[in-house]
Amino acid sequence: MITFKNVSKRYPDGYVALNNVDLTVESGEMVFLTGHSGAGKSTLLKLIAAIERPTSGTITISGQNIAQLKPAAIPYMRRKIGFIFQDHKLLFDRSVFDNVLLPLQISNFDNNTVAARVRAALDKVGLLKKEKSMPVALSGGERQRLCIARAVVHRPAILIADEPTGNLDVEYARDIMTMFTSFNQVGVTVLIATHDASLLEDTQHRILSLKQGKLAA
Ligand code: ADP
Ligand code: ADP
Repeated sequence: MITFKNVSKRYPDGYVALNNVDLTVESGEMVFLTGHSGAGKSTLLKLIAAIERPTSGTITISGQNIAQLKPAAIPYMRRKIGFIFQDHKLLFDRSVFDNVLLPLQISNFDNNTVAARVRAALDKVGLLKKEKSMPVALSGGERQRLCIARAVVHRPAILIADEPTGNLDVEYARDIMTMFTSFNQVGVTVLIATHDASLLEDTQHRILSLKQGKLAA
C-alpha cells in the first residue's frame, strides 16, 4: 500500500532528514514509526502526504508513484488518506460538526448523506453529543478526537498520524490508540509516528525505528 525505495530527503538548507529509506506498509497493516525527536518521522509522513517531495528515491501509494503525479492530481491522491498532524488546523470559528463536514464539501453527496457521515464519524470518536460545540470548548483530548473524526469522515484507505497522543495524559492516549486499532480492524491501513515508547510496550504491531534519518533493522 505504501512503498519507499531508496528515499532521501535533503532540506534546502542542506540537512539530510531521511537517508536511503526503504520500507513497505502492507494493505490492512497497522505500523508504528518511532525514533527520537529529529529522527525524521514527520518528514517521512510529509512525503507520504506530498507536502514535501523526496530529493531522490521512489514513493508508491496504492501503486501510484507520487513523484510522477501532476500537481492537479495530488488532491485526489490525498483523498485516499486521512491525516492527523500535530498542528491541528481546526477551524475555531466553526462548530465541531462543521469542522468534520469540511473534507466532504468537495464531494457531491446530498445533504442527508453528508450529515449521516459526519455524525457516524463523530460517533466513532465519542463526540456525537458535542456536535454543536465550538472547538475552544473542547479539552485537549476531545480536540484530538475531533481531528480523528475529520481525518476518517471520507473513509480513507490509509490513516497517517503524527504524534497523535503528543500532549495527552496516558489514559487519553490509550483511548486514542484504541480508536486507531478499531479503524485498522475494519481494514484501514494505519501508520502512526510516536516517540512515546510507553505506547509501544505491549503492541503486537510492527515498529519501524528511525535513527538520524535512517531506518534501523
Ligand atoms: P521528527 O518528526 O522525528 O522529530 P522531523 O522529520 O521533524 O523529525 O525532522 C528531522 C530533521 O529535519 C530535524 O533535524 C529537523 O530540524 C529537520 N527539518 C525538518 N523540517 C525542516 C525544514 N523544513 N528545513 C530544514 N530542516 C528541517
Ligand atoms: P455509516 O455506514 O453509518 O457511515 P460506519 O460504521 O460504516 O457508519 O462508519 C462510521 C465511520 O467510521 C465513518 O464515517 C468513518 O469515519 C469510519 N469508517 C468506517 N469504515 C471506514 C473505513 N473503511 N475507512 C475509514 N474510515 C472508516
